[in-house]
Amino acid sequence: MSITDIAGTFELHNGVEMPYFGLGVFKSKEGQEVVNAIKWAIDAGYRHIDTAAIYRNEEGVGHGIRESGIDRKDVFVVSKVWNNAQGYDSTLKAFDESLRKLKMDYLDLYLVHWPKGHPRSTETCKALEHLYRDGRVRAIGVSNFLQHHLETLLPHCEIVPMVNQMEFHPKLIQQPLLDFCTEKGIVYEAWSPIMKGEVLEIPILQELGKKYDKSPVQITLRWDLQKGVVTIPKSSKKERIESNAEIFDFELTGEEMAEIDSLDQGYRTGPDPDNFDF
Ligand code: NDP
Repeated sequence: MSITDIAGTFELHNGVEMPYFGLGVFKSKEGQEVVNAIKWAIDAGYRHIDTAAIYRNEEGVGHGIRESGIDRKDVFVVSKVWNNAQGYDSTLKAFDESLRKLKMDYLDLYLVHWPKGHPRSTETCKALEHLYRDGRVRAIGVSNFLQHHLETLLPHCEIVPMVNQMEFHPKLIQQPLLDFCTEKGIVYEAWSPIMKGEVLEIPILQELGKKYDKSPVQITLRWDLQKGVVTIPKSSKKERIESNAEIFDFELTGEEMAEIDSLDQGYRTGPDPDNFDF
């Protein structure tokens, strides 16, 4: 797999090309903060933006994309249905509301934000399938679905989700889940890929950073992509948005990839999908 370009893509199982590098906007404030982040990101070459209804910044995301001057079709826009909107009709309504705020007429990817258990998530996924068939979304997927959540869901799906967005970083790999998704044709995507900045303190990443003249953040983001995992680091600071994307001029060796893999200890910075009280 060659990872050479910020606008490079992984192919989803329906043939849609998903840019493997994007900007996360969780906690980017609605208004000028998120508008600026989007414009700086697009200027730096980002072609994928990850928002969600619950981030309450979809209006700013849409605004930033329009102000950047980029063609809508050249940016991959993702949003997610929040837990209180799960169910068939409520998901369709939530999707309309996201599009209204974004001022867009389609999304590139729409995700179920968290599993809510059968039959709730199943009904939500059926609504996503409906939106997909109607051509209002180019791809559909899930987030925070562990293997048992997927095993419960998949028999009820007519369309296998194209993406599973999970917490993923050197201290939380969940390789069996990643392998399960790969086997089902589901692209794996990393949230909190730099552990909200905590990777800066990890000695192995600092050492590799010295070798390549990169920061531990850049080493980590490069490792994501070489593992075949889509990554969406968040920053609302111009310099970080730019430097986080400077990862296309070096390549980690197989041995270095394994060294980073060995940091895995099942450590979560966010909620466990099995015990998320929502
Ligand atoms: P990240 O691992 O991307 O870390 C973001 C934090 O790190 C911010 O506080 C940011 O601060 C800081 N940061 C960014 N770049 C650097 C840098 N170069 N050096 C030091 N610190 C840095 O965490 P997120 O939780 O934001 O995850 C990324 C995205 O994933 C989210 O924005 C969201 O889109 C998605 N997500 C999805 C979830 C889900 O349930 N599906 C859950 C959580 C996130 P600053 O802005 O000040 O630069």
